[in-house]
Amino acid sequence: MDLFEYQGKQYFERFGIPISPGGVADSVEEAVEQAEKIGYPVVVKAQVQVGGRGKAGGIKLANDADEVRLHAGNILGMDIKGHVVRRLWIEQASDIEAEYYVSLTLDRSKKLHFGMLSAQGGVDIEQVAEESPDAIAKIWIDPVDGLTPESARAWVQAADLDPRAEDATVDIVQKLYTCYIEGDATLAEINPLILTPDGEVRALDAKVSLDYAAVYRHQEIWGAFDGLEPHDERERRASELGLQYVGLEGSVGIIANGAGLAMSTVDIVNQVGGKPANFLDIGGGASADHMANALTVINEDENVKAIFINIFGGITRCDEVARGIIQAMERVELKSPIIARLDGTNATEGRAILKENESERLQMREDMLSAANAAVKIAGES
Ligand code: GDP
Ligand code: MN
Repeated sequence: MDLFEYQGKQYFERFGIPISPGGVADSVEEAVEQAEKIGYPVVVKAQVQVGGRGKAGGIKLANDADEVRLHAGNILGMDIKGHVVRRLWIEQASDIEAEYYVSLTLDRSKKLHFGMLSAQGGVDIEQVAEESPDAIAKIWIDPVDGLTPESARAWVQAADLDPRAEDATVDIVQKLYTCYIEGDATLAEINPLILTPDGEVRALDAKVSLDYAAVYRHQEIWGAFDGLEPHDERERRASELGLQYVGLEGSVGIIANGAGLAMSTVDIVNQVGGKPANFLDIGGGASADHMANALTVINEDENVKAIFINIFGGITRCDEVARGIIQAMERVELKSPIIARLDGTNATEGRAILKENESERLQMREDMLSAANAAVKIAGES
């Protein structure tokens, strides 16, 4: 999950990464108050969890209260790539001599942290990667060693920044690494990191993504932030109910046990020409309670036209799952039919239970492919 820029900056500040003085505002008048406190000129910045705000008109310079009023009025309520602006960050305007890029993320295939630093910042890093890949200095960091001062310096030197920016940047990348690690972030990005004419280096933007599953470990950091829940209403509901759920755009609701099988189920629905509405791993104990919760979240998704339940019994027994499905169906009034496939431990017993209860609303298939086909067909017809 992504933080807003102002949250990212407050987070950076805790770790000593320099940012410009600023404050949040939820109305035009609050924007003016903040600007008066900071002193002009200020920058009025839309707070949305999406990049490219500058190009979309969500970032404006203001030299006096009237200009703050004008820009704040225009930006509040603005739609930036489907995100409506409800909050502003007002900060002291900076003079920029150079714009750099720096980020830390995880390289899963190498099992190492991965950093990118470039003297060509302020623009999309994808574009730099494509047009001048040599302009990005890369570093892979072993989590056991961390980012040592020596490796930080070598990394910064490889990026060929203005020599005046070197020492400060070496310091900032180490702080960025600490904050990335300490908060269980999956991304910490500064674009642009600026050099000012008087030789200061500061974070002008902040993009931080957190591992939502680890947020509970850092209440002292994240507890201070409101709105730290998934903005997909379905994901918010699912997390309340303790489900491993990811919302997607399609019409076939998916429930599977185990993340691997859930992903295969998403794949097979795509493979037979359907569109999954979600990923949902119901985990080991597919009890009636659990199943009812899963069905509730899927049922509240207006796009869902068919529900594909795909269970492979290991420790979980298929007969228990089958009873769970039937009890859950008594509790939740479903808008779409279920296509269930049970295999593995006690599949015969499980299937027999489903067979007894089979109807238009609950259909059974013996293998994954025919179940996927049936679910996609139903979803396509309605
Ligand atoms: P993004 O478009 O969502 O990535 O928002 P940023 O915060 O990165 O701002 C985009 C661009 O606006 C930056 O790359 C700068 O060029 C410009 N900008 C933002 N703040 C300031 C500022 O204080 N002074 C100046 N001169 N430019 C700024
Ligand atoms: Mn930016």
